[in-house]
Amino acid sequence: MVRPTNLLRCVVFHNISAIDSPFTKGMRVDITPAEFEVALNFFTRYYTPVSLRDVLADSDGRRLPPRPILLTFDDGYASVMEWAAPICSKFGVPAVLFLNAAFLENERLAPDNLVCYVANVLGMETIHAAVRLVRGADSPGLVSQGDVFSRFFPAISLAERKTFLDALIYLSGIDERQLATKARLYLSRKELCDLGSMGFEIGNHTYSHVRCRSLAAADFSDEVDRNKAELETLTGKQVLSFSVPYGSSADLTSDLLRHLVLSGHEAIFLCESVANSAGADRFQLNRVSLRAGQTTTLLVEMEVLPRLRLLRRRVLRNWDAVLRGGHYSR
Ligand SMILES: [Zn+2]
Repeated sequence: MVRPTNLLRCVVFHNISAIDSPFTKGMRVDITPAEFEVALNFFTRYYTPVSLRDVLADSDGRRLPPRPILLTFDDGYASVMEWAAPICSKFGVPAVLFLNAAFLENERLAPDNLVCYVANVLGMETIHAAVRLVRGADSPGLVSQGDVFSRFFPAISLAERKTFLDALIYLSGIDERQLATKARLYLSRKELCDLGSMGFEIGNHTYSHVRCRSLAAADFSDEVDRNKAELETLTGKQVLSFSVPYGSSADLTSDLLRHLVLSGHEAIFLCESVANSAGADRFQLNRVSLRAGQTTTLLVEMEVLPRLRLLRRRVLRNWDAVLRGGHYSR
């Protein structure tokens, strides 16, 4: 049996910034450098940071040190190089960086940052107009930019997403390349290579940050294989892990899971802030997302809430089984 203290904790950060940016404001992905340092101080004091290789080598769930924790970053923000790398180096913490090769070098904006920028600078009406162009007049009412990511993107195809993003750029009158170059939100190729040699394991996050439930099997090549190949060519190292964009288990379809395993991915990460149980499936490792304002309650965020969510999930699953006439299980 694996003792509760030896269960693997995984945590994910995104953008580390001390100032508000119209490209991320409202996305709940920012944490300040000072808060990030507080979090790392907490992790190194109460846990044992481990690398992805340590996790992959732990075949039976018993070989990791007490209270293991794996640090990860999603989306490839330039702030990982500016702020996270020096602080990780100071505390001696290894990390995994999951990113989309499409946005390296800042020639394009990731869909979420584009939506966020338009919502913050021009308002939701421009978003609504682009949505109506894709879904017609009966399109769902989206109250906030978060609704675009959680309700609209999961309901449309990749082709419809492209139409929506093109419409957003046209209606906003922005020059995407110029805006991306000026904002410098993401890492350059050189910075990625430097991080690869600074103890950051590089992982796959799809080529253009898609909701994976909208991928057909024919799209896996463009979004999964292409990203893996480009990152491997750049860093000269094998990409062994994948993090599901938006972190939902609903996006990890059985077809995608099979493709990821067959294409050489040895670990898959979600982000539902649920605790990993003993002997957790390496192809469905859950992470706790930490952002600004949560570092004063780290114990609750890391230990209490993830276990309560796991408990709730088990209770609901068991009730579902009971209601369907099955048997209760622990
Ligand atoms: Zn992401």
